[in-house]
Amino acid sequence: MKYYSLNNNAPKASFSEAVIKGLAPDNGLYFPESITPLPTSFFENIENYSNNETAYELIKQFVGDEIPTAELKDIIADVLQFDFPLVEVEKDIYSLELFHGPTMAFKDVGARFMARCLSYFNQENPNEVTVLVATSGDTGGAVANGFLGVDGVNVVILYPSGKVSDIQEKQLTTLGQNIKALEVDGVFDDCQAMVKKAFLDASITDKMQLTSANSINIARWLPQMFYFAFAYKQLKDKSKKLVFSIPSGNYGNICAGMMAQKLGLPVDIFIAATNANKVVTDYLETGNYQPKPSVQTISNAMDVGDPSNFIRIEKLHDNDFEKLKNNLHSYSFTDDETRKAMLHLFKVCNYTADPHGAIGYLGIKEHLKKNPNTQCVFLETAHPVKFLPVLDEAIANQIEIPKQIKSVIDKEKVATKIATYEELKDFLLI
Ligand SMILES: *Cc1c(COP(=O)(O)O)cnc(C)c1O
Repeated sequence: MKYYSLNNNAPKASFSEAVIKGLAPDNGLYFPESITPLPTSFFENIENYSNNETAYELIKQFVGDEIPTAELKDIIADVLQFDFPLVEVEKDIYSLELFHGPTMAFKDVGARFMARCLSYFNQENPNEVTVLVATSGDTGGAVANGFLGVDGVNVVILYPSGKVSDIQEKQLTTLGQNIKALEVDGVFDDCQAMVKKAFLDASITDKMQLTSANSINIARWLPQMFYFAFAYKQLKDKSKKLVFSIPSGNYGNICAGMMAQKLGLPVDIFIAATNANKVVTDYLETGNYQPKPSVQTISNAMDVGDPSNFIRIEKLHDNDFEKLKNNLHSYSFTDDETRKAMLHLFKVCNYTADPHGAIGYLGIKEHLKKNPNTQCVFLETAHPVKFLPVLDEAIANQIEIPKQIKSVIDKEKVATKIATYEELKDFLLI
């Protein structure tokens, strides 16, 4: 499989080149040259496939022959070491729990898959690779954990000071070894801008091989397709129309869902559920795509003002606005509405959701007003324990601290403070 740059001004790349580079040299996102749907019999018989087999079927064309079948299957088995339960919270409303991995965020799967691919490609590459990644909360921990101890790979994580939860901060600043954390005086968009700049800075890239582990990297983005198939597999009634509501920030997860749909997964509509950062919600309403500086909310992993993956979503709909509007709906919710939804889920549905999942749930409620008789799945993208400070006390008090969190909570934070791009450069080049 070859990948081309969505800026159309860079040579095509193989899977391994695209994974190692992250972003194309013209600053564009990589996109597969072809997408071949799977036979309908695969989805009809999905119950007969294990999670590992399902994942392999979905990803194999994108990897091509660059990782031999046996190795790719091993990587998948190693990545998918935890469960992805579908929990019914109300009639026809399900939560797909994506937080049972080591850092309790859905990003674990993408980060682990990417780390293992990079490590596979690195066997023949004598040079070290530096993974440079900006995080608004959960990416950092998942990447840090996924790459910990991987030979030949150094990881540098930028996160906005004071804008991630204590637990999230601990998850990305306490691991040591090949993982370094930079605490940036700024917001997530500043972190992301610095990372993007570094990739284009020859004075850095001449000296070291940088790669990205944000969802712009195809090896982080594509494995997220698995979730949607895992949810479908667990649905008892597959005849009803199926809608996914995805709490969206950089739009990587939802874009992977759309890729699964391209492969033949029967999805009726996708809902991009979001907070006050609603550039996509507004775009679908007005036709005018207007990136904005990010606004801080209690669902901070979605505090993104200019979602990187949106361009891939447009491509998946042939850059046709009408086509897009038929497949993607979007709703935005305030912090207040999010808090109320968490309380409702807790008290009425006996379900503890984190703020992101609660926004996904709200997206479904909005959709059902006009479209009853639909089967809806919202993605519960993080464990609520990661957002303790913003949870209602009644909810917070009954959460048991999971073992994954206990293991980092008392460790000492190690991070280097930076405020400018020059400081990032100095840090990388020493
Ligand atoms: C990253 C993240 C999101 C947003 O996912 P995107 O792929 O960036 O849209 C939502 N919820 C949580 C908990 C996250 O960590």
